[in-house]
Amino acid sequence: MGFVKTRDISREIRERCGVFAVVGHPKASELCYYGLYALQHRGQESAGIAVLNGGRIQTKKGMGLVADVFTKDDIVRLRGGSALAHVRYSNVGDEGGIEDAQPISVKMWQGQMAFAHNGNLINAPRLRARLEQDGSIFQTTSDCEVIPHLMAKSGLNDPVKALIKSLSDVRGAYSLCVLTSKGVIAAKDPHGVRPLCLGKLDGAYIICSETCALDAVGAEFIREIDPGEVVFIEEAEHPGSDVGRAKPPVSCYIDGARGKRGMDLCVFEFIYFARPDSDLYGINVHAARKALGRRLAQKDSLSADLVMGIPDSSLSAATGYAEEAGIPYEMGIVKNRYIGRTFIAPTQPLRELGVKIKINPLRKVVSGKRVVMVDDSMVRGTTSKYLVGLLKAAGAKEVHVRISSPPYRFPCFYGIDTSSSGELIAAEKTQEQIRELIGADSLAFLDVEDLEEILGRRAGNLCTACFTGKYPIPLEGEYR
Ligand code: 5GP
Ligand code: SF4
Ligand code: MG
Repeated sequence: MGFVKTRDISREIRERCGVFAVVGHPKASELCYYGLYALQHRGQESAGIAVLNGGRIQTKKGMGLVADVFTKDDIVRLRGGSALAHVRYSNVGDEGGIEDAQPISVKMWQGQMAFAHNGNLINAPRLRARLEQDGSIFQTTSDCEVIPHLMAKSGLNDPVKALIKSLSDVRGAYSLCVLTSKGVIAAKDPHGVRPLCLGKLDGAYIICSETCALDAVGAEFIREIDPGEVVFIEEAEHPGSDVGRAKPPVSCYIDGARGKRGMDLCVFEFIYFARPDSDLYGINVHAARKALGRRLAQKDSLSADLVMGIPDSSLSAATGYAEEAGIPYEMGIVKNRYIGRTFIAPTQPLRELGVKIKINPLRKVVSGKRVVMVDDSMVRGTTSKYLVGLLKAAGAKEVHVRISSPPYRFPCFYGIDTSSSGELIAAEKTQEQIRELIGADSLAFLDVEDLEEILGRRAGNLCTACFTGKYPIPLEGEYR
């Protein structure tokens, strides 16, 4: 199988975001604002809202958390019946500044449009090089920007047709929304790697990354967008009226994708990324994580005093483990939830003093105890190593690390940031070497077969490439 070489691609694999779009609601920008709040976990680097008003698109975006970017005045000023919003994921060494914040607003011969997406277009570098040689001038480093350029060259006047034609050239994982002068077009790649669902609120429609954002605005879930589906929702003629502010959604499929393939939803959405109160294809994320934790415990014969999770993403798995093992669930550490982008990290001398702003162990809980520390995933091993040290320093007698997913051995090319296999601790080290490195008394992972059985039984086909190396969307060129 061999490891994939990943030099020079870190710039392309950092898109991991949240999208939220509204069609036909007088308070579209306000709904977007609340929707983005609910999707904040999907991206903390930048946030943006674009609104459609009288055929014109107006945008406000900025760096940081949703709360940092928008003032009340902004939301009042962004008036319109349809809107598109985005939060962008941040990671270390990311070069993209405000110019890469989405929605990306463009004026094309087909009209003004705004684009926002979640995912990664794996052939974007090649498409972009070709477009640039043909004279296209790019404004951002975002892979998403190839789409408007392809549309502008499509020769098709209708934005839906132009988008479908363009997407047949694009390969990768994406959930995309486009705000046009008439409404919103939403598209999911033919493998359905990133989530995207449709909801309804009065006469308006909403398209968003996760169902927790529908709940946040009081909207009703209608259905998932299908892999390969392109949905167009147009504003009704009289957006001021109380009913029927949006026309019913109209669907078509990219390259006849319908029925051609199963879906390959990212298993990591279940493991780590999505919010526990979201449902993906009818499966609640918290319940799925709990089942993974239970399976870990079923395969264990550990004697311990308490089970703890790492806030917030592994708490569901930890409760599942504790219930199944019959070991008390406890709060072993507290995490400060209020650390935003403007937080000034302690300088080295202060760090050496042991300043613990982000995370603090509960000394009285863990001291003298045999602790089972459940985390949802191990990527570089940094988190586990740090927390084992912290718990031991707080007096824990033993720390047993249990990871509710398999060893992460292969880089993700579909929008999750795991730069290169060289950084993946499980890519080159044995389980025993990892255990030693993180300083744990024992270490166990979930088996791939268990993961596939538990989630596959519920969700059908899933992408598990970072654990198995079986990439559902073939890699080529720069990714080989
Ligand atoms: P590691 O510290 O081993 O590199 O990463 C694993 C830890 O990071 C786990 O605690 C997991 O909850 C968290 N994690 C997993 N994926 C991501 C991600 O894409 N971004 C961030 N910020 N944390 C992640
Ligand atoms: Fe998700 Fe892993 Fe597939 Fe990437 S490789 S899409 S993280 S399951
Ligand atoms: Mg974590």
